[in-house]
Amino acid sequence: MKLHTKIFIGLLAAMILGVLIQLLGLQNFSSQYLSPFFETIGKIFLNSLKMIVIPIVFLSLFCGIVGEGKLQNLGRLGARTIGFYLISSLLAILTGSVLVNLLRPGVGSNIPIPENAVVEIGKAKPWSDFIADIVPSNIFHVIASGDMVSVIFFAVMFSVFTYRVSEAARSQIVSLFKAFLDVIINMTLFIINLAPYGVFCLVLNLIIDTGFDVFIPLALYFATVVLGLTVHFFITLPLLLKIFTSLSPWKLMMAMSPSLLTAFSTASSSATLPLTLACAQRRVGVDRRVSNFVLPLGATVNMDGTALYECVAAIFIAQALGFELTLLQQFTVIITALMASIGAAGIPHAGLVMMVIIFDAVGLPLEAMGMIWGVDRILDMGRTMTNVWSDSTCAAIVAYAENEIDINVFHGVNVDVSMDQSL
Ligand code: ASP
Repeated sequence: MKLHTKIFIGLLAAMILGVLIQLLGLQNFSSQYLSPFFETIGKIFLNSLKMIVIPIVFLSLFCGIVGEGKLQNLGRLGARTIGFYLISSLLAILTGSVLVNLLRPGVGSNIPIPENAVVEIGKAKPWSDFIADIVPSNIFHVIASGDMVSVIFFAVMFSVFTYRVSEAARSQIVSLFKAFLDVIINMTLFIINLAPYGVFCLVLNLIIDTGFDVFIPLALYFATVVLGLTVHFFITLPLLLKIFTSLSPWKLMMAMSPSLLTAFSTASSSATLPLTLACAQRRVGVDRRVSNFVLPLGATVNMDGTALYECVAAIFIAQALGFELTLLQQFTVIITALMASIGAAGIPHAGLVMMVIIFDAVGLPLEAMGMIWGVDRILDMGRTMTNVWSDSTCAAIVAYAENEIDINVFHGVNVDVSMDQSL
């Protein structure tokens, strides 16, 4: 059975059991005797997610920067690529932030804060500390305390300076870290397989504590994310393409469609990467020099859909718990959502795993994450497709600027969604 089916069943089972408990009037009994059990299992699941966040961030960033590209490429090409990635991700987050603040899907649901949850809202650091602390004074300390922004800073520094050691030393480090990343991705997949049980326990615990009021805002939350992704996919990214090139967004979308559809069904931009490369090179006409740098890096660090979703989800949960985030806290959400999307691996549910960073940064209780797991798979499909579409748009824009796109290939594109034989 597919994982998302299992997660859905976990969610449904928790809801049915929740109804039974309410109907039979067993709330007191359940919160006294059952809750501690479900809470423990839910906690184990959350802990295992937290356990892998730091290695994933470090290793996938390192392999994205050092494993694929060459530093000499990182001149103008790198600056253009990174510039586009930052702009498009920020636009995505802003779209999410505007929608979640306008539609306010969580307001009024007043979900009680789970007991024992550490809530540190309002304790956000002052600006100056926030900036100064990006540079870690002790790398082991930031790893231990899970201070992700500093870890990312260190990972980028480490990756860049890896180019300054001898070729032999560099290739040793790269192959070692690639092997580490393989192991960590395997661990992630294993932990994600526990999601149905984790979801069951977290959601049932939530229902025992709060009843069913929780599910109405969930539908609104879902709609807000879908609306945001739609705006970014069909309006913002095509507009960027129009501004920077004379290429037709619709044609590009059709040329990339095999890759976009694969992204939608696998919910993994890494798994889709070979297809993304093939489509960009053979159906769009992007030269290999550009596509081989832009796309693997993008599959690791450029995740517009994920960034938008992280922002909406975090603010939604703050609303549902009855908190009004201050401007500074909203800004913290925006910056950490950007960091989280950069650090997320291109595998299913990675965005959900990275949510831990934002919750930590604004002081939201991790336990509240349980409520959004049940609908994550469908959102994951949509955001992964958006992630790959953003990488593809970037490849086209950069190739156009570098004069590395074969316009004949682009215009001769086969608009059939099925892959042509040459792929
Ligand atoms: N599944 C997404 C991707 O592979 C990451 C995420 O979970 O947001 O791009």
